[in-house]
Amino acid sequence: MNLRLSRVHFPVTTLGPGRRLGIWFQGCSMACPGCVSRDTWSWDGGQLIDVVELVGNCYQMTEGRIDGITITGGEPFEQSCSLGALLDALEEWRATDGFDILCYSGFPLKRLELEHAQLLDRLDALIPEPFVLGSPSLCAWQGSDNQPLIVLSALGKERYSTIPTGPPSIQVDVTDGAIWFIGIPRPGDMDRVQALAKQRGLIMEKLSWRI
Ligand code: SF4
Repeated sequence: MNLRLSRVHFPVTTLGPGRRLGIWFQGCSMACPGCVSRDTWSWDGGQLIDVVELVGNCYQMTEGRIDGITITGGEPFEQSCSLGALLDALEEWRATDGFDILCYSGFPLKRLELEHAQLLDRLDALIPEPFVLGSPSLCAWQGSDNQPLIVLSALGKERYSTIPTGPPSIQVDVTDGAIWFIGIPRPGDMDRVQALAKQRGLIMEKLSWRI
């Protein structure tokens, strides 16, 4: 089973507890105004990759030093068969390393419960609902305050009992000649980053959040 993948980052420390692997699905038709992941909207972008190959690559990348996996995008549930295959492929590894799985979705929770209950059963935590511009959340992991953190398992209850509040942290990762900002910026943050970079003589081009 193939999955249309945008990218993978490790370690990710801004989207869920602990040291995480982040898997960004490519493709989203939700078009939330203000989305900072516009580069993940196109269904022609990213790469098609076999799910088992992807998990093998991730396993090597993390070298057993992993607390959790964050699945985001893009809209993972618009590739629901691939998401199911990914969760299948993670089972054996997960049994050994005991990591939790957090998934983001722009779909409303009610729709996910109706159409994708079997997938929800296999996650530890979920942050659903479309992003709403101008309604920032106090939680560092949520984009807007309409997006609840839903705990779905006993492991999720253990890992997500303390939710970090306050200013979000943004990670910077340089991969394949691109600079990636990982986390949930608040309104205007990316404009401020761009202005500060310019003051220091660094012109940021091809901004993925403005594609
Ligand atoms: S916020 Fe998420 S669901 Fe909304 S357009 Fe962006 S990637 Fe899609």
